[in-house]
Amino acid sequence: MSDMVVMKKGATEEEIERVVKKIEEAGCRADISRGKYKTVIGAIGDREKVETIPFEAFPGVETIVAISTPYKLVSREYQPEDTVINVNGIQIGGNNFTIIAGPCSVETKEQLLETAKIVKAAGGAILRGGAFKPRTSPYSFQGLGEAGLKFLAEVKDATGLPIVTEVMDIRDVNLVAKFADILQIGARNMQNFQLLTEVGKIKKPVLLKRSFGCTVEELLMAAEYISKEGNKEIILCERGIRTFEPSARNTLDISAIPIVRLKSHLPIIVDPSHASGKRELVEPLSLAALAAGAHGVMIEVHPHPEEALCDGSQSLTANSFSQTMAKIQALAKALGKK
Ligand code: PEP
Ligand code: MN
Repeated sequence: MSDMVVMKKGATEEEIERVVKKIEEAGCRADISRGKYKTVIGAIGDREKVETIPFEAFPGVETIVAISTPYKLVSREYQPEDTVINVNGIQIGGNNFTIIAGPCSVETKEQLLETAKIVKAAGGAILRGGAFKPRTSPYSFQGLGEAGLKFLAEVKDATGLPIVTEVMDIRDVNLVAKFADILQIGARNMQNFQLLTEVGKIKKPVLLKRSFGCTVEELLMAAEYISKEGNKEIILCERGIRTFEPSARNTLDISAIPIVRLKSHLPIIVDPSHASGKRELVEPLSLAALAAGAHGVMIEVHPHPEEALCDGSQSLTANSFSQTMAKIQALAKALGKK
């Protein structure tokens, strides 16, 4: 990607088309973003090829702006307005604070349905649950796979809650996309560039989790891989990073929230469950995320955490989830969030 070509207010379709054609002739791809007043065309591809094009000489072109960051399409410079993603009528981004909750893993249909009812009753908007699980040990529960996806679809039908679930393998992208409303890319796959490219080609939102070993800039570069393929519906997620501090599972990088918001137009949510690994920390970290400007949280909930096949110690019960939700709602209201 090289620069963005800002068209004049009122530039005609022919003028826009001429710029697009020129970019394509140079072997690059044009990303058209139609703002309220002006159209901006991003030239994606080899910088050297694009730099030779005298865009200023084209009718309808107002100015050429070079984007200073290594990520382009996901940068605030490229798109000043927040991206707001609509998932079956639920808005993520902008002034919205969205609650995603559910079990770490789909275990049985009953467990999932019971959890979904807890999530819905407390005011959660989206149901999470892993069918393909990235586990540190190959001997741990790996998820139910396709059977788990089917349970997710059934529970979605029963409750109306949209579904977010992880895809780990490029071979499963189409299968998971058939069932999921949002496809999750887990922390361990944040730099699986082939997987990022594949989810960039589908027409469903992607929840991209920051790797525990990657910088904010690397997270935004990963998002750029998805955006570059045409999928602009990306939700970023801060889920804690590895530091020298052993008292929690990870260290929630709270600064990442305002930093991402300054640098990118994409929504950013927080996963306080994987960040902390401890049930008692989930509520304070959720409130901190909201106060720091996050667009939502993703919380693990289990009706019987002591029986959970995965991450029971960080899962909230029905009671603790509804208490946490009440506090989140009170703070959201005080902050003027929807
Ligand atoms: C998850 O959210 O199910 C998960 C495995 O989290 P992470 O990829 O952040 O470890
Ligand atoms: Mn988990």
